[in-house]
Amino acid sequence: MSEIMEMLVRRGFIWQSFEIYGGMAGFIDYAPLGNGLRRKVETLWREFFVINERSVEIDTPTVGIEEVFIASGHADGFTDVAIECSGCGRVFRADHYVKEKLNLEVDPTVEAVKNVIQEFNLKCECGGDFRNPEHFNLMFVTKIGPGRGKKGYLRPETAQGIFIAFKRLSDYFRNKLPFGVAQIGRAYRNEISPRQGVIRLREFNQAELEFFCHPGEKRHPEFYKYADDVITLVDKFDKEHRITLKEAVEKGIIAHELLAYFVGKTRRFLLAAGIKDEKLRFRQHKDDERAHYAVDCWDAEVLLSYGWIEVVGIADRSDYDLSRHTQFSREDLSIFVPFEEPVKVRKRKVVPDLSKLGPAFKDKAKKIAEELERLEDVGNDITVVVDDEEITVSPEYYEIKEVEEEIHGERLIPHVIEPSFGLDRITYAILEHAFDTDTVDGEERKVLRLKRKLAPVQVAVLPLLSRDVFVDEAEKIASELREHGIYTELDVTGSIGRRYRRYDEIGTPFCITIDHQTFEDETVTIRDRDTTTQVRVGKTELVEVLVELLNSEKSITEFGEIFRS
Ligand code: AMP
Repeated sequence: MSEIMEMLVRRGFIWQSFEIYGGMAGFIDYAPLGNGLRRKVETLWREFFVINERSVEIDTPTVGIEEVFIASGHADGFTDVAIECSGCGRVFRADHYVKEKLNLEVDPTVEAVKNVIQEFNLKCECGGDFRNPEHFNLMFVTKIGPGRGKKGYLRPETAQGIFIAFKRLSDYFRNKLPFGVAQIGRAYRNEISPRQGVIRLREFNQAELEFFCHPGEKRHPEFYKYADDVITLVDKFDKEHRITLKEAVEKGIIAHELLAYFVGKTRRFLLAAGIKDEKLRFRQHKDDERAHYAVDCWDAEVLLSYGWIEVVGIADRSDYDLSRHTQFSREDLSIFVPFEEPVKVRKRKVVPDLSKLGPAFKDKAKKIAEELERLEDVGNDITVVVDDEEITVSPEYYEIKEVEEEIHGERLIPHVIEPSFGLDRITYAILEHAFDTDTVDGEERKVLRLKRKLAPVQVAVLPLLSRDVFVDEAEKIASELREHGIYTELDVTGSIGRRYRRYDEIGTPFCITIDHQTFEDETVTIRDRDTTTQVRVGKTELVEVLVELLNSEKSITEFGEIFRS
């Protein structure tokens, strides 16, 4: 186990699920500290992508009925190629196995994998031969209700719940584009052989935003906020660029401004969460990697001990999802978008001549006239269908007139830009990037440099001695901090130095110490995790000072008298 994983398990961030029964790959428990951290990452995400965006958040079931995933394409297409060893029976995800053993990229098709196995005489790790490769659908199947029940699936992404509620959502926004709809929740993928610890899970947490826009207006009014941010891009030809987002759009590297906006916003969010800029890049999907309906797609990748890992996918999915659900549900998911000003257009209309139609077509004349009036831009001989009969009407029975009409809007299926975040990977990446060692008082110290806002334990209150007066005072202070919403622990055991190390290791930004002087002048010390500097502040100011410190990156030296023990 890596040094960081050892710490995460020992200190209570992440545990193996079903441990006493031997565990199961692809499932983790969020232990108390990991759970606290992930929840705070969620809150930060919400700040960026719901509160500070033109969007709302919804929550839909994690079980979906079969129809949804037939329409979305998952029932047929959400597969990986699996290879099973005829000797030991182990099953591997073919493209990962080929990459690991042969350092080759193989297309995820049965044919391509078969060819590679033959060409390179690829064997299992045990020396056994592989059976024929097969497509394996990654969705967990379930049954809804008793008896034969109804087939359902655990959702492989949260997005579909948003698309199928689109009509209601669009009404909610009074059909005014653009608008975004977010969802945070569990997703399930029955990954073939998850071997990358916490990176590839079978049950994981997604935060997705579906941002619906006019197909011809892929811009965002707040692009200016990120336009000058310098960012690392790896384009679809593997060329690396360090350029501003504005330039990336101007040069056509990123397809349009709205995608660039979300690339920029995603980067700002990841930086605010503690991801290091020099270990963050955005990689464009290659033409053969991108879904056929996607216009352009960029993955945020973070450098971890596992290599470059995708943590966010940002895609322009065009109108694919809404069109498919329109087709399969037979509900019209288009919306009427009014123009700012009505537009005048000239049209050629057919004006029937009833005085001639009547004698010629008798009782059918009226219906023919109605059909003719409905036509636009016509040629010479017109054929209409009346009572299932095709009738050709020659030009003597009508006139064609040019008319001017006012058009007030258009019906269209919006396009969707989707930033899709894997919260588990982001939480783990934050931990790896925060994990650090330094030397304090000649001793090596392990310290987790988490952003103050995200630390699961924000403050530790430490009485210098375990005597009752010190502990009682510490309890009073801890209780007051908790009343103000500060996540506080109280720790009495061990030397003060050891206790500081304990809280440094889990990333607690501030330790409060109650010492002898507290009883003389009503002050306590605040110690800063990163610098180990201490200041002395009055008890009455403590809450105010801590709230300000926890919500900023300010130095504690701004808040009190520096104190050295
Ligand atoms: P995707 O829909 O495949 O683009 O996934 C969106 C995001 O979900 C990815 O960027 C990952 O961060 C995350 N993700 C996808 N699959 C898994 C998995 N098996 N385990 C954990 N996170 C995942």
